[in-house]
Amino acid sequence: MIYSTDGFFDLYGGKYVAEVLRRPLDELEDAFRYYMQDYDFLEELNTIRRDYIGRETPLYFAETATKLLGGAQIYIKLEGLANTGAHKINNAIGQCLLAKRMGKKRIIAETGAGQHGLATAAACAKLGLDCTIYMGEVDVRRQQPNVAAMELYGAKVHAVKSGSRTLKDAVNEAMRDWAAHPDSTHYVLGSALGPAPFPDIVREFQSVIGNEVKAQCEQRGIKIGAMVACVGGGSNSIGFFSPFIDEKEPRLIGAEAGGIGPGIGENASRMTGNASREGILQGYKSRFLLDEDGQVLPTRSISAGLDYCGIGPQLAALGKSGRVEFTAIRDKEALEAVSFFAKNEGVLFALESAHAGAAAMKIAKEVPSDKAIIINMSGRGDKDVFITSPVFRPAEWLDFLHAEIERLEEKKDIHDARSMQG
Ligand SMILES: *Cc1c(COP(=O)(O)O)cnc(C)c1O
Repeated sequence: MIYSTDGFFDLYGGKYVAEVLRRPLDELEDAFRYYMQDYDFLEELNTIRRDYIGRETPLYFAETATKLLGGAQIYIKLEGLANTGAHKINNAIGQCLLAKRMGKKRIIAETGAGQHGLATAAACAKLGLDCTIYMGEVDVRRQQPNVAAMELYGAKVHAVKSGSRTLKDAVNEAMRDWAAHPDSTHYVLGSALGPAPFPDIVREFQSVIGNEVKAQCEQRGIKIGAMVACVGGGSNSIGFFSPFIDEKEPRLIGAEAGGIGPGIGENASRMTGNASREGILQGYKSRFLLDEDGQVLPTRSISAGLDYCGIGPQLAALGKSGRVEFTAIRDKEALEAVSFFAKNEGVLFALESAHAGAAAMKIAKEVPSDKAIIINMSGRGDKDVFITSPVFRPAEWLDFLHAEIERLEEKKDIHDARSMQG
């Protein structure tokens, strides 16, 4: 069963929210079910997917990687070629279009690393919706390039100053806003988690990835042995896996952030980690990284998009049933995968997606050579240059940053808005 039953996937999921959020969630569920059967809505969604997002995204045969890894044929779903650079736009466009049909004029969203905020801001600009992004103050400071892009798209970025001033506080603030303005506003949740019906909605809008892969493989006679995706909240993976969940094959593998090691606070391994526990947080029941008293533990990963304490309920259930296997990939292995696919294939993986790349490298020999391993490259790595450069070429990067600061302080080559207009 691909859809939840009353919001639950086996033991996980649900709708653990304050009374004020029940009505907006129920209305959203009704509208979603209605419009997913509505020809006109689906037609508009497909046109936007084709002309604005740039779908379908290619399924690329990685010939050199296949030779070097010496096992399965390696294919890469180049989801990072989607407009805005990652899969998040699939969900953002879907939900914003749905909100528009529901008569909402205002969109809010949470963001951690800024990728979901950026996709939502772009979708709102495209569809003519008012957009406010909630982002922890700490994240606003460390993710300035994405904040700048969101503002270029016309979004208001609201820095959240409560709690740890990171993603979980941004979610709380967005929920509060939604509870106060349910009639005018839609809350675009960014991953396949949160209270029902969000896990179903996000999976369905992301299932375009898996559906394309299935059709591309059928057309080209590719036999799939395994599919590998990275797992933050779980949206790219569940969308990529979705057409295959109810079947016995292929192997479905989720790569979590193994960070710098197995210790508490060193990773974000919600399924395979030492501190993985069942809990209820931010409106849903799932597996989280919690201490014995149920308090949220700190997480760590080189990839901001995987650095989260919870996992979507459907993936937690699929992990429990064994249909999806989970593996933890360390920061170092992800960086090695970035280099490997860049040098050998000319494909620059986002650090998140490189966790999937690394997992595929590990299992390549387990899959026979007449079958394929499909890697979902959820995003491209351009956005990570501030993280990868200090690792790969620290001295040159430091020089560059010093020179940039000098240039800014001397205001050389800087055009202000007036001179651009004049
Ligand atoms: C946000 C993000 C992820 C993690 O989120 P999921 O919901 O697990 O897909 C993975 N890859 C990229 C490129 C991202 O931006």
